[in-house]
Amino acid sequence: MPGMGPTDTALDADWLGACRGAVAGLRDVLAAHPRTRQRAVETGDRGEGGDRTLVIDEGAEHAVFAQLDALHAAGHRFTAVSEERGEVVYGDGTDDVRVVIDPIDGSLNAKRLLPHYALSIAVADGPTMADVAFAFVYDFGAGEEWTAVRGKGAWLDGEQLDRSLPERRARDGRLELLGIEQADPRHIAAAGELHEVSRRLRVIGAIAVTLCQVAAARLDGMVSLLNCRAVDAAAAQLIVREAGGHVAFPKCDEPLAAPLDVAARSPVVAARSAETLAALARVPIV
Ligand SMILES: [Mg+2]
Repeated sequence: MPGMGPTDTALDADWLGACRGAVAGLRDVLAAHPRTRQRAVETGDRGEGGDRTLVIDEGAEHAVFAQLDALHAAGHRFTAVSEERGEVVYGDGTDDVRVVIDPIDGSLNAKRLLPHYALSIAVADGPTMADVAFAFVYDFGAGEEWTAVRGKGAWLDGEQLDRSLPERRARDGRLELLGIEQADPRHIAAAGELHEVSRRLRVIGAIAVTLCQVAAARLDGMVSLLNCRAVDAAAAQLIVREAGGHVAFPKCDEPLAAPLDVAARSPVVAARSAETLAALARVPIV
């Protein structure tokens, strides 16, 4: 993203720099809580999204908001939407720019030192998923940085993702590998229909990270079995689309009409082809 100039809006701020600064801050938080016993400590509060807040979630959010404070101090105005704090207005609330943050996507993995958990930050110039202009996901497990800029492409560790990568299908025509998220055991029965779509399933445990795997065609598609929140998916859905994939929030009026707030509105589905996206959107989900 270009640096600040006299005519820049909040959309033109150095979001990549701010996101990388937040990653550095988050690394310190994680290093200060190296074992699962330390990472499992709860603050006693629940986030705006309803989950019990871990001390590491709160520390991670502090690391992100330190970056937002600095951008605001430099003159940028925007509204932050974060998993724990909810909406925080930086400015007078009339600016259209929204910054949608999940300080740790996959907190359960982070707590238990399972590999995949991520910082997810999306910057939008409007109220829905379709309006996301900049996306950043950093997977602390794999040490991978995923970014996207609307209309320009998506990158993994600085290398542009190939938009033409196809899905892979088994000999019987089903997808080779499908990611599922929010794999609540009560809803695995509904996922039974997925056997018609895919030969094998993977459950990574972090929506943003799973979406990014579709962006790189490591997974042939993904579906969340429950409604997801915008904070989980806002950044990674742009990364998928800028990497040639397709995304929908099937319970919304339009595929990308999910609002950028803290409520859980719709499952998210993603695929490398429009045909597979339509098949996944038909899977009965809660
Ligand atoms: Mg989280």
